[in-house]
Amino acid sequence: MGELTTVERNQSQRKQSKGPKGVVELISGANEIAENKPGQMVYVDADSLITRLDHNVLLPQNKFGLNIILPSTKFIQCQTVSRSALKYSPNVDINNLWAVTSTNKNVHYDIYKDTKDVLKAVRKENEQRLQTHLISQGSFFSSIMNHSTSTFNSLWSSVQSKLPKNIFNFTIRYINNTLPTRKNLSKWGLSSTSDCSFCSSPETLLHVIAGCKTYLDEGRFTWRHDSVLNFLACTLTAVKNSTIYADIPGFMNPSVITGDRLRPDLLLVTENRCLYILELTVGYESNLLVNANRKRQKYRDLINEQEADYDKVKFVNLSLSTLGVFGRSSENFDGMLSSLKCDAKYSKYIKKQIVNICIRTSYYVFCKRKQGVG
Ligand SMILES: [Zn+2]
Repeated sequence: MGELTTVERNQSQRKQSKGPKGVVELISGANEIAENKPGQMVYVDADSLITRLDHNVLLPQNKFGLNIILPSTKFIQCQTVSRSALKYSPNVDINNLWAVTSTNKNVHYDIYKDTKDVLKAVRKENEQRLQTHLISQGSFFSSIMNHSTSTFNSLWSSVQSKLPKNIFNFTIRYINNTLPTRKNLSKWGLSSTSDCSFCSSPETLLHVIAGCKTYLDEGRFTWRHDSVLNFLACTLTAVKNSTIYADIPGFMNPSVITGDRLRPDLLLVTENRCLYILELTVGYESNLLVNANRKRQKYRDLINEQEADYDKVKFVNLSLSTLGVFGRSSENFDGMLSSLKCDAKYSKYIKKQIVNICIRTSYYVFCKRKQGVG
C-alpha cells in the first residue's frame, strides 16, 4: 500500500526519464557506488545487525534462503541415522538395544524417519518463525509465499547466488528489512529524522524502492520499468515474421494499434495473426496481486476490442516485484514464450535476465536515494 504506480505515468514523465540505458552501463554504475563509499557508516551498522538474523541463512534457496545447514542440525541428522540403524537392524538384540534406549534423551531423534525429515522440520520451524514472530522481516516472505510462483522462486535464488557481493548483500538486507533507510536508522538511534530527503513521508524501504512521489516524477521508477521493457522488446525482435511495438524509444509505439487512450507496454503481432498484449508492472512485493488485478481490469475492454481484428488476442500480465520475483499472474508469460518457440533453456535465460535487471536497477535506485537526478 502507498505505492505509486509507474504505469499511469504521463508522457512528460517519460521524457524526463533517462530512457532505457544499456544494462551493462547500469550494472557497472551500481558497483561503482558501493565501492566508492566503503566507509559509509550506515552500511557498517547494518552489517552488525544482519548477523543476528539467521532465518535466511537456514531457509532453502527456493525460499529465498542461503541453504546453510548448521552443525547442530547435522548433529541431529547423525543421531537420526544411528537410531534408525539400531531400530531397523536384522539383529534382534540390536533392536532390543534400540527399545531400551528409547528414553527421553533419544526419543526426539526417533520421530524422524531419515535425514531429509530433520531438514524439513528445522526449515519449517524457521518459516513459521519468519511468518508469525517477525512482523517486519516476515512481510516480504509472506507476500512472496502467497503471491508468487514457486518455480520462479528457485530461478530467483539461482540468480541471487551469482550476484556480486555488494548486490547480494543488498538482497539479503532487503528481505530482512535491515537496509539503512531513514526509518530504520532512526529506529536504531542513528538518525534524528525518519523522513525522506525529498518529501515529508517516512523513508521506509517501500518508499525508497517504489513509493516516493519525487522519485516517480524524476523518472527513477520508470527507468527501472523501461530497463526491463527494453530487454524484453530487444529479445522479442528475434521472433520471425512478427511485428513488435513497444512504449520506449527505438520501437514503433503501441498507440499505432491501440490509440492513446490505453497504451500497453508491448504488442507483438505474430505471423498467424495472434496479438500478444504485454503489460509490465514492477512494484513492491506486497502489491504483486493488487497490481496484477488492476492491470487485468484496465485492459479488459481493449482485449475485447482487438479480438475483432486478430485471430487470437492474448493478454500477458507480467507483474514483477522490485526484487525480481514473478507474481502468479505472470504464468502466461511462460505460455507466450513457448508459443513463440523459445526452448526451455532460452526461456530460462530470459527470465533470469529479467530477475537480474530488476535486482540491479532496484539496487541502483536504493544507492541513489540521497542524491538528486542532476
Ligand atoms: Zn520521498
